[in-house]
Amino acid sequence: MSEKEDKFKFLRDALDERRASHRLRELKPLAFEFGGVNIKFNGQSYINFSSNDYLGLRHHPLLIQRAKEYADKYGVGSGASRLVTGTLTIHSELEKKLADVFGTEAALLFNSGYQANTTVLPALADRNSLILADKKVHNSLIQGALLSNATFKRFKHNKLDHLEKLLQEASESSYNRIWIVTETVFSMDGDRSDLASITQLAEQFNALLYIDDAHGLGVLGKNGLGLSDEHHGIDIRLGAFGKAFGGSGAFVACSEEMKQYLINYASGFIYSTAMSPTVIGALDAALELIPSMNKERADLHDHIEYFRNEVETLGWETGASNSAIIPMIVGEEEETLSLSNYLLENGLWVSAIRPPTVEKGASRIRITLTTKHTKAHIDQLLKALGAWKKR
Ligand SMILES: *Cc1c(COP(=O)(O)O)cnc(C)c1O
Repeated sequence: MSEKEDKFKFLRDALDERRASHRLRELKPLAFEFGGVNIKFNGQSYINFSSNDYLGLRHHPLLIQRAKEYADKYGVGSGASRLVTGTLTIHSELEKKLADVFGTEAALLFNSGYQANTTVLPALADRNSLILADKKVHNSLIQGALLSNATFKRFKHNKLDHLEKLLQEASESSYNRIWIVTETVFSMDGDRSDLASITQLAEQFNALLYIDDAHGLGVLGKNGLGLSDEHHGIDIRLGAFGKAFGGSGAFVACSEEMKQYLINYASGFIYSTAMSPTVIGALDAALELIPSMNKERADLHDHIEYFRNEVETLGWETGASNSAIIPMIVGEEEETLSLSNYLLENGLWVSAIRPPTVEKGASRIRITLTTKHTKAHIDQLLKALGAWKKR
């Protein structure tokens, strides 16, 4: 009798391959200083330069207090999906407040930004549609586009003449609709898209427009309402609560009709348990705080400018970054890894971003700054980056 084949060999092979190419991903459980930027891993202390909690809200007393209050009043779970019995008054109230604050007819909650992007796009496009997405959009938007079965084309990053060319070509085809999909702030480069021109192109070609504002929200735009807030003609505005909002989940701001459509057709909305009341409480408080945090935002932007100027003076290339996300482009993977190890040895926690997340030869160290960093924290990072250049 022949021996049975090892049915788990594929797992080992795949992991070995990752290990051999130094690309194995691993979870690193951290301890941290409450309310601050210091984290601890394996007994070592680090300054965290790798968090999206831009305004430090995840430890804010008001968010915590309201989360507790909502837990006391409504429990920790919502008990069902939204269309069954999971829509509590607090879900509807938060949606109403979001629509008011963001100046749209309606808003709809989702359990995560990833979930929203992977379910909203498939609900809005089908095999007869065309989706044109920026080359550098977030993985969740790519997955959503693929799931939709639409014809899916990418335009060169922020190259709107390329987008226009694709729109021109599409206008001679018989797509039932065309979606343009992009972000306000790109998560690996920290650069921005030209929303004024994109909204104009959408208008000109009668295309629909889907804008992911995950990294702009809370940080950019008037009163921190994101960059999408400054433009008309955006049909779907996606905001993620896991970043500057300090919680988790996401929302889509849109027309009332669009909302009703998504409630009926977005399977990731329909077949998923409604957001926890605890989280709703925290988000309710965050929504109250964010528009009033102009002072914190101004300080953050001062820090960003200071860091970018200094790091460029030290000879680092930061690309077109224009946000709290600042990449330092190193180039080769090995060099990037050894820099990230050097920074770790110096108590600085940063992310090394390598292919396939970015293209080959564009490996980088990605820094994010938050309101919780002080000038002293930033100077410590600059000092280490300067020393590395001189070594
Ligand atoms: C973080 C992020 C998401 C995913 O949001 P989650 O709520 O973390 O799932 C989607 N789009 C962009 C651009 C993001 O940066």
